[in-house]
Amino acid sequence: MRIVFFASKPYDKESFSKLKDAYPQLDLEFWETELSPKTAAYVTDTEAVCAFVSSDVGENVLQTLQDRGVRLVLMRCAGFNNVDLDAATRLGIQVMRVPGYSPEAVAEHAMALAMAVNRHLHKAYVKVRENNFSLQGLQGVNFYGKTAGIIGTGKIGAAMARICHGFGMRVIGYDRYQNPELPFLEYVDLDALLATSDLISLHCPLTEGTHHMINLQTIGKMKNGVILINTSRGGLIKTDDLIAGIRENKFFGVGLDVYEEEAQNVFENRENDILMHSTTARLLSFPNVIVTSHQGFFTEEALSAISRTTLDNAMAFLEGRAAGTELN
Ligand code: NAD
Repeated sequence: MRIVFFASKPYDKESFSKLKDAYPQLDLEFWETELSPKTAAYVTDTEAVCAFVSSDVGENVLQTLQDRGVRLVLMRCAGFNNVDLDAATRLGIQVMRVPGYSPEAVAEHAMALAMAVNRHLHKAYVKVRENNFSLQGLQGVNFYGKTAGIIGTGKIGAAMARICHGFGMRVIGYDRYQNPELPFLEYVDLDALLATSDLISLHCPLTEGTHHMINLQTIGKMKNGVILINTSRGGLIKTDDLIAGIRENKFFGVGLDVYEEEAQNVFENRENDILMHSTTARLLSFPNVIVTSHQGFFTEEALSAISRTTLDNAMAFLEGRAAGTELN
């Protein structure tokens, strides 16, 4: 089966190509172009396409792909808020993903952001390079003994909870379901989490129910001097409200690996100069904000797990087996 990879980067090609010999039935073709209504029309002679978190997998695209004979969309990521699953089902297109390829990769990046904003590593790095060894403006707080609030205690949230626990923090969580693997974590309601956490880390998916869950009202319920980290999806935070909160000195620091405007353009331009959007640029103007470009997943181990599961998904589809990673 031929699989056309959209938005493929050199590191995708390298990591998938390493495994290619173990999957002789699969013919992998790497396209740099992003999947969009326009580029979907270029697909011919293929049953399967592989897309990413940045791809447009909406109804128009799925219709175009189906017209060209595509029956399988392989998402090489965990999140799927960019996929119109109802349309895919109606069009008879199977969608599969890679759930939990390396929760630790994202959780470790969440803690890296928290540590960096807390100890001002972004400023310290620049200062010392300019021969300025003054400590002015670099004071942080101990995480030890503080309270970490984890919103969404699934795979990544659980990994983050374990890291925070290892730091000697009290760990509280909010989720619709309780994760039995976290005996040290105390579940509380969202208001209590907002009111008592010194560090808040977001790990729930972007859904209608979680869209803009961090807004003026919820920010108002947070402790002054809180550190807020988002490695989940940009849409969880209402950016204008976050900016208002930052202006009012609500936050000690904010670390974002994801942001509302990243959708297509930032990714499309990852290899060139990343386009700076208006609200993201405004966020970057605050000295206590660190933004990274959706790199939480980007470790050797995670890329290798993504590649293996994606190719296993393709084989399961080809052989008519259930993989357990089907979204529809
Ligand atoms: P998961 O499904 O294991 O966990 C998500 C948790 O969120 C679940 O426990 C679920 O019950 C909970 N949840 C759902 N709705 C909720 C709500 N309204 N309030 C509170 N909790 C709610 O998913 P995961 O593997 O831990 O991934 C979490 C998210 O991380 C993904 O949805 C994705 O958006 C993001 N992600 C980011 C990167 C990155 O590179 N930055 C990489 C992978 C995943």
